[in-house]
Amino acid sequence: MSVASQAPDYIRAISPYQPGKPITELAREMAIPEASIVKLASNENPLGMSPLARDAALGALGSIERYPDGNGFALKQALSARLGVKADQLVLGNGSNDVLELVARAFLAPGHSAVFSRYAFAVYPLAVNAVGARGIEVPARRYGHDLDAMLAAIRTDTRVVFIANPNNPTGTFIGGDELEAFLTRVPADVLVVLDEAYTEYLNPAQRYDSIAWLARFPNLLVSRTFSKAYGLAGLRVGYGIAHPEVADLMNRVRQPFNVSSVALAAATAALGDEEFLAQSARINERGMAQITEALAELGLEWIPSAGNFVTFKVGDSATINAALLRQGVIVRPIGGYGMPEWLRVSIGLPEENNRFIAALRQALA
Ligand SMILES: *Cc1c(COP(=O)(O)O)cnc(C)c1O
Repeated sequence: MSVASQAPDYIRAISPYQPGKPITELAREMAIPEASIVKLASNENPLGMSPLARDAALGALGSIERYPDGNGFALKQALSARLGVKADQLVLGNGSNDVLELVARAFLAPGHSAVFSRYAFAVYPLAVNAVGARGIEVPARRYGHDLDAMLAAIRTDTRVVFIANPNNPTGTFIGGDELEAFLTRVPADVLVVLDEAYTEYLNPAQRYDSIAWLARFPNLLVSRTFSKAYGLAGLRVGYGIAHPEVADLMNRVRQPFNVSSVALAAATAALGDEEFLAQSARINERGMAQITEALAELGLEWIPSAGNFVTFKVGDSATINAALLRQGVIVRPIGGYGMPEWLRVSIGLPEENNRFIAALRQALA
């Protein structure tokens, strides 16, 4: 018998995450220069990162022979000042993906279940299955979370509910009132993970104060990331905010040095650059209008999005995607999410959006 066959069934049943195609890979495949490629596939910040973050990252390279601060003191201080929470409510992660896995490791085991929505972030089932727990996928309502149905799906063995707001890949958004009502109804012994990876892109009318809810709901964990609006996807930093007892358990199962010194330094500096964040949101809002107007003009259906990406329906997505790739434009097919007729495009800079629109027009012709 092979050694691989000895891995637990629940591990062997996992289908791997399908990332966006890297620029380097398409350049190799097509034998075209990397600089000619537009990648709008992974919801990255087209502006890059804050200059303050860049300087801090470069500065941190000077002491790379040292282990990072395993407690992330400086970043936690900066986050607690900014969010008005105590440092012992924070868990730092190697991306917020890591935070989601820490939730699974701390709260789930074989015999437990976790509830999430259909079309929600692909990492939820991955994290749940990797620890041998069962995922309960709840049918979506107009491509978004159906909170009533999710509530009804909670069983006695359910330990965690995952909610992405805005959701990826559909961009759907749940208002604060609805979320708060949901929290009051969830059993107190079920952890609600509110994944706010795109929260910095919300417009003022959409904003809600999930941090203030933490005092009332000790079973709430809010997760956020530096990968999207802060433009640090390659460095891998995210964080969870929760009740100190929840954070403590997650910190126990965390790798001691899960966030690198360069990432810690850059993230701490990035938090101080409000102007960069505001500019990122502005560019996104304009780019969203630019792309959705073009989709309308092309007669395509799309799902209104509160994030930095939009998902639109093309029918034969494999053919359209191949035609886009031939023109050096990378978007994200989401057949793996059960949406084989749709593609997701991240909002880029105006000229990148134009390249995408022109390539899509050509692909549809
Ligand atoms: C991108 C994303 C994340 C996190 O990515 P990290 O780079 O691991 O921080 C988390 N949740 C959702 C819904 C996302 O789209």
